[in-house]
Order: sequence, then C-alpha cells, then structure tokens
Amino acid sequence: MLLLITNRGPDATDLGHLLHKHPARVHESALAFGTARVFYPAAGPEECTAALAVEVDPVGLVRSVGARQGGWALGQYVNDRPYAASSFLSVAISRVLGTALNGRCAKRPELVDKPLELEARLPAIQAPEGAPERLFDPLGYEVECRRLPLDPAFPEWGEGRCYELRLRATRPLRELLRHLFVLVPALDREKHYWVGPEELEKLLAKGEGWLARHPERDWIVRRYLWRQRGLANEAIARLIPEDDGADAAEDAEEEAQAEPATGRRSPSLHDQRLDAVAERIAALDPESVVDLGCGEGKLLLRLLRRTRIPRLVGMDVSSRSLQYLESRLERLPPAQRSRVEVRHGSLIYRDSRLVGHDVAALVEVLEHLDPDRLEVLEEVVFAHAAPRHVFVTTPNREYNALFETLEPGGLRHRDHRFEWTRAEFQEWAKRVAAGHGYEVAVEPLGEEHPDHGAPSQMAAFRRTD
Ligand code: SAH
Repeated sequence: MLLLITNRGPDATDLGHLLHKHPARVHESALAFGTARVFYPAAGPEECTAALAVEVDPVGLVRSVGARQGGWALGQYVNDRPYAASSFLSVAISRVLGTALNGRCAKRPELVDKPLELEARLPAIQAPEGAPERLFDPLGYEVECRRLPLDPAFPEWGEGRCYELRLRATRPLRELLRHLFVLVPALDREKHYWVGPEELEKLLAKGEGWLARHPERDWIVRRYLWRQRGLANEAIARLIPEDDGADAAEDAEEEAQAEPATGRRSPSLHDQRLDAVAERIAALDPESVVDLGCGEGKLLLRLLRRTRIPRLVGMDVSSRSLQYLESRLERLPPAQRSRVEVRHGSLIYRDSRLVGHDVAALVEVLEHLDPDRLEVLEEVVFAHAAPRHVFVTTPNREYNALFETLEPGGLRHRDHRFEWTRAEFQEWAKRVAAGHGYEVAVEPLGEEHPDHGAPSQMAAFRRTD
C-alpha cells in the first residue's frame, strides 16, 4: 500500500527535513507485519514527493498478529488488503514518520508549524460512498475521489470497491499526518490489530485539536474503534469539548433555587415550566420524546410518571447531571426504567441519535449557549433532528425588574449567556420556524404581570409538512 505526499512551492525539499528522511536515499524499516520503505520519486526545488510504501507480508502477519488473536485465516489476506490503505498504513506512519507525526524537527524546528502546500495521494483505499468527502472536507481539504475499475485491463468488469483519493491543503505536515493517521483506518473498517484501550488513547492524542469539533466525530470514533462500543462511547464522552456547557454543569435544582424570589409564594417557576411542557407533550401522545439539555431529567421523570410514552431520551453535555439522573433511574422498577435512555452529547453537533423522535424539548437550555452557537443549534434541532414538535422555554428578561434581589440588567443565573425580552424571543422563534418549515406559537409561562409579562416563555413549534 502506498501513500504519496507532495510539497510544492519554494524549498519543496524541506519535506525531507520534516520527515527525517534524506531525499537521495531509500529508507527501509522492518515492521511486525512487513516492510515499510520511504523514498522520493521526485525531489526538485519546487516539487518534492515522498512515498511511503508498505509491503504487508501475509505469512509474517499471521505469525505475528494472528497467533495472538486465535489465528486469522491467511485467506483474509489473499484479497486487496496488501495494497488498499488501511490500519497498516497508520502503524507505518507512526513507526516510520513518527517524528513528523509528533511535530518534532530538531534541525529545523521552525518547519513544524509552517503551513506547506501539500498534497496527499492514496492510490487505493476502500471507503463507503461519499465518506472521504464527509471526513476531509470539513478539515479544509480539497478532496478528489475517484472510484477505481476492478481491473483496468477489463473495463467491462466495472468498478471495484477502492478509490483513489487526493487531498490538497495548505497546512503544517504534522496536521496532515494526524488526519491520515485517524481517518484512513476509519474509512477502511478492517482492523489488523486488536482494538483495545491503547487505541482509544492514540485516537484521542492524534485527534487533539480537531476531532472533537468534527461534524462526523461520532462516526469516525466508532469506525476507528471498530466493534468496541464501550471504548467508542468513552472516546466520544472525552472528546465532547469541555467549554460546551461544562460550565453549565450546575444542576437544574441549583438553577431553580437560584431564581430570584418575587416575594410571593407559589410553586417554583421551574416546576410551573416543567408542568406546562409535560402537559403539552402528553397531549400529543407521542411515541418518542427527546429532552435536549435534560440536566437531571426532571422533565423526563415527570413524563415517565404521568404518561405511557414508550421512549424517552435525555441528552446533556454535563456528565455530572446525567450520572445523577442515572442514579435516580436505578431506583425505579425495571419496566419504567427501560423507557428512558440517557445520552451524553452536545447540542451543537449533528448527532444521529437525535433523529427520529416525535417531540423535542429544550427547557431553559437556549440561554446557556453562547449567542454565536445558536445558529448551529437551530441547524441541529430544526434541520437535522427535525422532530414533528419542538418546545422551547426561556426566561423573559422584562420580568427581571420584579426580582427584588437582581441588580438592574443582571441575569438570573451565572451561566446564562443572555436573556431575551418577549419581542426578542418572538422574533427568534418566527425566524427559525419560517426557515425550517415549522409554524410556531409563543406563549407566556407563569403568572403574567400587566407591564412585564410572565416570568418565562414557551415557543411551541410544529412541523408543517
Ligand atoms: N432542561 C433541564 C436543565 C436546564 S439547565 C431542566 O429544565 O431541568 C441547562 C442544561 O443545559 C444543563 O443541564 C446544561 O448542562 C445543558 N447544556 C448546556 N449547553 C449544552 C449543550 N451544548 N448541549 C447539551 N446540553 C447543554
């Protein structure tokens, strides 16, 4: 199998320094499963290409890896494995190009972070349709992907399963190598090694700085850690960026209590809100509800007790809140508990687990997101997940004037990034509905004041198709 890396532009042969391999020589290394060679088909001042060729030795492979795994049939390797890029290539990158992968260059350290005009070419890689584009496009590569004929000598046999893949971008070499290290084995799901905890650590190390925010993060992790659901879930949980609400990890209890008193005694505002939303959801008699930013699951527990809705899914970015919810669920009878699924995730990433529900709820969640993330949330909820009904609640800022303990202009909770007036919420709700094929009605939540309105507000969206 072959990987070609080309550097174009002035001082193209800097590539040799970075790879720690002199362009004039062939560099050969023995690996557990075969031999890796690095050589330079071209090494001119304006264009320099390094080739990493990995020759897999099927017999050696069966001896070295197969024995440990209870024996792999040699037949598995009498196919396209030896030449299609796969997990072998990642091992070779880390063994043979490890200094470049890890961003070290003793002689010319300034080159490590220097963006270079790079092209990577994988003459053969197996991948699901469209996957190379989905993985490399978001990382800023120009992607060229061509399905190869099964056998060029017999065009009538049609296309095979392999692609030729070319990636172009101006970026430091080490980034390109890290992307390839993770994404090549994700594209080709066969793994020649046992996927264990070390692989999870490698994935997190090589994915640092880019994987957490990749729109296909979960897909990549699951494919990289193939057949190891537990490890994949752990990786995803560890990858979810801390700043996406981890500060919001305070529990909803605290939030409810933190709501400033009006001097009157009534059921807490939070209970009123949750009751209102639960009632509206129950009236729809849905099959499945997802509570986005569920916190400790107050809405879910209400729905569990008061309705027969068969599937209730809670999602939150705060693992602390979810642990609390899990501990409460453990105390319920199994038949009840089995109706609830708890998911760790962030609302600002497209997540296939959010698709296919009848109803989504966002109770006091919006105002915990930075305003510049709202647009992404809108896409995730209304375009991607697109449930038939969405209920969104948020504080009404105008009402804050009635809270005796709030400074003028102050927000109700330390993690709130903003609070909206009635008009602002109306405007947002109408724009989102119009943009995504929903109709919406906004209504007050809680007792209304003649000038300041109700303490909270709810938008009820319904998909129009
Ligand atoms: N809906 C719950 C909790 C409201 S508090 C209730 O009404 O009781 C706000 C919740 O939003 C917190 O649990 C916080 O962890 C969660 N949150 C904040 N940002 C998030 C994000 N990007 N994705 C998912 N949840 C998020």
